[in-house]
Amino acid sequence: MQYRSTRGSKNQTLNSPAAIIQGLAPDGGLYVPVKFPKADFKLEDLPKLSYKQIAAMIISLFFDDFSKEQIKSAVINAYSEQWDDRSIVPIEKHDHNFYMELFHGPTLAFKDIALQMLPQLMTRAVQIEQTDHKIIILTATSGDTGTASMRGFANQAGTDVIVFYPEGGVSPVQLKQMLSQRGKNLQAIAIKGNFDDAQTEVKKIFNDEHFKMRLIQNDFQFSSANSMNIGRLVPQISYYLYTYGQLVRRQEIKLGDEVNFTVPTGNFGDILAGYYAKKLGLPIKKLICASNENNVLTDFFENGVYDKRRKFHVTNAPAMDILVSSNLERLLFDLYDENNQQIASLMNQLTQRGHYQIDKQIFTQLKHIFSAGFATQKQVQAEIKRIYNYDRYVIDPHTAVGSYVAHQYQKQTSDTTKMIIISTASPYKFPETVYEAITGRECPQTGIPAIKKLHEKLGGQLAIGVRALSDREPHAEKIIEPADMEKMISTILNLK
Ligand SMILES: *Cc1c(COP(=O)(O)O)cnc(C)c1O
Repeated sequence: MQYRSTRGSKNQTLNSPAAIIQGLAPDGGLYVPVKFPKADFKLEDLPKLSYKQIAAMIISLFFDDFSKEQIKSAVINAYSEQWDDRSIVPIEKHDHNFYMELFHGPTLAFKDIALQMLPQLMTRAVQIEQTDHKIIILTATSGDTGTASMRGFANQAGTDVIVFYPEGGVSPVQLKQMLSQRGKNLQAIAIKGNFDDAQTEVKKIFNDEHFKMRLIQNDFQFSSANSMNIGRLVPQISYYLYTYGQLVRRQEIKLGDEVNFTVPTGNFGDILAGYYAKKLGLPIKKLICASNENNVLTDFFENGVYDKRRKFHVTNAPAMDILVSSNLERLLFDLYDENNQQIASLMNQLTQRGHYQIDKQIFTQLKHIFSAGFATQKQVQAEIKRIYNYDRYVIDPHTAVGSYVAHQYQKQTSDTTKMIIISTASPYKFPETVYEAITGRECPQTGIPAIKKLHEKLGGQLAIGVRALSDREPHAEKIIEPADMEKMISTILNLK
């Protein structure tokens, strides 16, 4: 299948392995299918299929340049013993809503679903394309992408991973995970700035022609593990289909019934995968976009104006502390009937002026599919407590943002459609906030000791991924200015 840039001509195309290796288009746009595929499955197949089968089906649909054999082995490697639940994605029902638990992988957040798969696709893409350059995975992270991509790519031949994260902008457990992940090919570096600073600089480095030439001369080539990479986005479509099938199987819904999904959103990757699932024919009524105090998307869905000129908040749901949601570009591309010039112009306005407004008619279409809301840090704590009090179910702060917004939506509308809340991280990844929410007392410790405290309170068995955390000694933190990121990369790669 051929891909193109959201900002480039539809006649300039490349195949899926090349799009995955490149990560980002040279014009700053994101890769999208030239022709969005038609589903080759029927809704009634879904209840019968395992997670792995659905994953293989979706990957074959979007990435048909890979052989069936390549896809099969990739899926087996990505979704095996490193998951602590055999179903990969368990679905829980609490307080009349469903929680799709995406955090049973090795780094305890939903990023593992895609980042256990992306390295598998990348190594096979390199074979197909016969690339002889070493692939440098350059990634900005708000916490979870960093750990999950380091874990996914650790010791993968032909790849190096360089992760930039905001100093003080990730949770103590996320920091410990990044600094203690072992692998000869991994580097995590803090920058004095926030996630948007890191992401903006990464995009700039990606598109620096001079630097790109220098890399090539040294036999290197950049790729990305952010959800800007289509190879990371596509595997995420699978869990929407799988969950629907499972709810039919459990007789919670009937085949063909519509469902709603609430998605805790940062870079708009997860919710965009839901939109793609809907485009493939999954009966989704509403996709509800849930934000924290960085509620730029809530306002956008309210009035059609995207305006990033606002205060940046460091919150208790740090993976969502983002003001520039990259994947919104792919949604707009679709709604604007693939008009790349319009998209280039909107994105240019965002960079130049910090805001843009979409057409009225596009806004109407948008409102039809999406709804949005946000939760403050206090509301996040209260929501963790509310769900815990209901039946002792424990959710993490990001899931709590989703749960709160879903609950508000249900109170404010008469929509009784079955609701699935996407549960994006293990509560043990953010033990300080969860402990405080449940006990009403500030957690006396942070990081690993806080996990122990929370576990004392909750009891039960700890997942392997949580237990593994205390074993390793972290490296010392390296902190640099955003302006020095390019220089740092040169040093790490020892560029001539
Ligand atoms: C990354 C992340 C999100 C946001 O997902 P996007 O795809 O960036 O919208 C939400 N919750 C957690 C725990 C995350 O790691």
